[in-house]
Amino acid sequence: MTAFTYDALPGRVVFGPGVASTRLIAEVDAFGAQRILLIAGESETALARELCAPFADRVTATFSGIRPHVPLEVAESAREAAADADLVLCVGGGSTTGTAKAVALTTGLPIVAVPTTYAGSEVTPVWGLTQGSRKTTGTDPVVLPRTVVYDPDLTLTLPAALSVASGLNAMAHCVEAFWAPRRNPVSSAVAEDGIRHLAAGLPVIATDPEDGGARADLLLGAYLAGSAFAVAGSGLHHKICHVLGGAFDLPHAETHAIVLPYVLAFNAPNAPRAATRIAAALGQQDAVQGLHELGHKLGVPAGLRELGLGRSDVDAVLDDILALAPADNPSPVTANGLKALLVAAWSGTAPTGEDA
Ligand code: NAD
Repeated sequence: MTAFTYDALPGRVVFGPGVASTRLIAEVDAFGAQRILLIAGESETALARELCAPFADRVTATFSGIRPHVPLEVAESAREAAADADLVLCVGGGSTTGTAKAVALTTGLPIVAVPTTYAGSEVTPVWGLTQGSRKTTGTDPVVLPRTVVYDPDLTLTLPAALSVASGLNAMAHCVEAFWAPRRNPVSSAVAEDGIRHLAAGLPVIATDPEDGGARADLLLGAYLAGSAFAVAGSGLHHKICHVLGGAFDLPHAETHAIVLPYVLAFNAPNAPRAATRIAAALGQQDAVQGLHELGHKLGVPAGLRELGLGRSDVDAVLDDILALAPADNPSPVTANGLKALLVAAWSGTAPTGEDA
């Protein structure tokens, strides 16, 4: 047992089918809120209004101009809409939660979040804002939602493909939590259970998006994934995906889903305990093989080249990734090792980790 430091994050969670309809009013009342800014994207506005019906007279402003990655002008419009508010209530995916966080960042207003995807942003103190093509992120406890209402029923409409992508993104948060910089026994335990719930729900949802039990598994898994990620931070996998995504505008979730087994294969030889726990949570003999097969079953593209990435693109970003690689990654990140990892992830050959 090695020494560790663990900063627990505060926050109240209400979880269960139907709770957004039955319990949201009590959660809003707990803040004594009288002037609520409702933030929900256009597709989620009808649902959000329905959930707010019992306290509609207290929703004094609505903002629906959500855009991915929270452009600064969107943040500024949402902040203007919050001028008179005493609470921000957001209903939607990570982009919606991110917009609520942008408001909290400058106003200090408390957030009640009702997530409708598996992004996990609602349990992290991380904010992100985009100016032009440049995304800036930061950490501030003021943006951490004070209450999260998780209702699996709200995710029944999330299409299968989006559910799989979002769920695998949560899987990446869990796996990476085992070697991320602020890992500790609590975040590892949370991540392990997150993997278990995600692995149970994902194959079911891929074929039957209306399975309530699998939806509950996935949402619980997403909550655990976000919690582990929030505490442990991000490691090599997230650095690789961040650089690749930023340089070549690759689809976020698919990039994560393709790269994850290769980073796991790279690290597993030097993180055997983590690999054993990940395998057990996946219900497989071998973590790398199990994760690779799960991705295959869920229709994840075989390699980054299927996303349109060229072989020379891999060489172009090698130094950028190397510069960001965490010093305490389980397997030392050398130029040759990283190149082998990226080339394998690009071509889609079976992840072996032989070059770690
Ligand atoms: P998103 O919020 O952009 O939503 C994707 C799409 O799904 C949208 O078109 C939305 O209208 C639709 N949608 C949402 N819920 C639905 C439902 N229940 N039924 C049908 N359609 C629904 O995507 P996301 O994956 O939830 O979030 C991604 C964003 O979150 C990224 O910007 C990412 O950087 C951010 N994020 C931030 C953190 C953090 O800690 N700050 C963590 C994870 C993700």
